[in-house]
Amino acid sequence: MAHETPSQQPRLSRQTIRKAILVVSFLLLPVTLFYISPIVILMGAAEGIATGSLLVFAALAVLSLGVSRFWCGWLCPMGAWQEICSPVMKHRVDGRRDRVKYGVTVLWLSLLAYLFIGAGGIRAVDPFYGTVNGVSITSSETLVIVGVIFLALFAAAYLLGRRGFCRVLCPTAALMIAGRKIRNAVGWPALRLAADAGRCIGCERCTNACPMGLDVHGMVRDGKMESTECILCGECVDACPEGAVGYTWRGK
Ligand code: SF4
Ligand code: SF4
Repeated sequence: MAHETPSQQPRLSRQTIRKAILVVSFLLLPVTLFYISPIVILMGAAEGIATGSLLVFAALAVLSLGVSRFWCGWLCPMGAWQEICSPVMKHRVDGRRDRVKYGVTVLWLSLLAYLFIGAGGIRAVDPFYGTVNGVSITSSETLVIVGVIFLALFAAAYLLGRRGFCRVLCPTAALMIAGRKIRNAVGWPALRLAADAGRCIGCERCTNACPMGLDVHGMVRDGKMESTECILCGECVDACPEGAVGYTWRGK
C-alpha cells in the first residue's frame, strides 16, 4: 500500500495547513462568491449567459475524475464555514439522508436546462457575470442576502450534523460524485484513501475525526475505503496513531 508510515506523517501541520486554506477561502468570499454560486448560474441561464460559476462547476466536475471531492475538503468556502462552526455542532451527520442531494441536483439541473432553453440557449459567456470589477459582494444589500444564506447554511448543518450541508444538500457534491463514479467504472488512477487493516488497533480515532461522519474504522476493517462521501480531508490519516490509513494515487 502506497501510504506514509507514522514517522513520516506531518500530523499537525497538514491539518493546520488545510484549515488555514479553508479560512482564507472563507475570507475571500466577498470576491469569489459569484464564481462558485449555483444561484448565479441560474440567473445567468435565464439570460442565456454561461457565467463564471458555470465554468467553475464544469471544471470541478472534470477535476473530480482525478481528485474526487478534494475541493470539498480543502477549498470550498461553504465547507470552511461549516468547519469554522463545527465546535458548536456536536452530532455526526445521519448518513440515511445522503440521497437528498441527488434530488436537489436533479431539480437544479432541470431548472438550469429550462432557463437556458427559454433564453434560446447559451448566447454568451461572461466569466465575471454579476460582479463589479471582478468582485462579488459590492453592496450592503448583497451582503445582507449572503449573510442570510450563510445563517441558513449554519442552521442546516446544525440540524443535520457536522458538514451536514455537504453530505445532504449540496448540488455540487453530486456532480463530483458522478465524476468519481465514472472514474471508478473506467478504472483511472486517482487520489484515494488506502488502508492497512493489519495495523489497525480499533481505537476509533479515525471515525471520531471524520468531519463527514463516516465510519472510517469500519471502512479500514472491511478493506473498503471507497466512499462517495469522503472529501479526502485527511483527518483520519492524521488521527490514526498506527499509520493504518493513508493517501494513495492508483486505479481502483
Ligand atoms: S474518511 Fe478520512 S479523508 Fe474521508 S472525509 Fe472522513 S476523515 Fe476525511
Ligand atoms: S485510527 Fe487507525 S488504529 Fe484507530 S481505528 Fe482508525 S484505522 Fe484503526
